[in-house]
Amino acid sequence: MRQKKGNLFVISAPSGAGKTTLCQKLREVIPDLKFSVSYTTRKPRTGEIDGVHYIFMDEDEFRAMIADGEFVEWAQVHGNFYGTSKKRIEDMINGGFDVILDIDVQGGRQIREHFSANNINNILIFVLPPSMDTLKKRLKGRMSDSDEVIKKRLKNATEEIREYKNYDYVIINDVFEDALKEMVAIIIAERARTLKIEEGWVEETFLKPE
Ligand code: 5GP
Repeated sequence: MRQKKGNLFVISAPSGAGKTTLCQKLREVIPDLKFSVSYTTRKPRTGEIDGVHYIFMDEDEFRAMIADGEFVEWAQVHGNFYGTSKKRIEDMINGGFDVILDIDVQGGRQIREHFSANNINNILIFVLPPSMDTLKKRLKGRMSDSDEVIKKRLKNATEEIREYKNYDYVIINDVFEDALKEMVAIIIAERARTLKIEEGWVEETFLKPE
């Protein structure tokens, strides 16, 4: 049989690549996926709900969680802190659920290191816009961010894009429906990998002498 442990999918992208919308749609298409809610010191944007989009906290609280070893990965992104709860992720994976992490490239690196050492199938997916021009346009079209924030995000985008080689898959988000299809295909394919078969199950079930 398939292993009882879930897969861990990391999705990273420069802001403006369309990752958030892709992840939202993914929930509808593959309903049995779990999404990890991160902790952050960033202020909530209009419409964001505490505990749903993020768990919002101040820097002192965040630093206390770092000191207590509660994060499996954390990073400073665009001047704010973001982190993933170790316990929440491990509970979901051990409960057999596939988990999606929408995190930055620094977090992706830490996840690969930690979960590879613990024999959890971790798959890193990088989302790119079709061009730098598109990225700029998409960022400027967002009403919620100030000019200052947009400038900072554009500068960070080039640094993030440099990291694409550390990822297993690259999805170019030009035509949204196509990008979504690629994402779904990756998730379904990863579920069928040989390494997801429990050790000894094939031998026991099919290869035992009569
Ligand atoms: P935003 O502030 O636009 O929601 O997110 C900014 C960036 O932080 C995005 O690239 C997002 O993927 C990343 N991010 C969100 N949560 C986490 C997290 O828990 N850990 C890390 N390393 N990055 C995160």
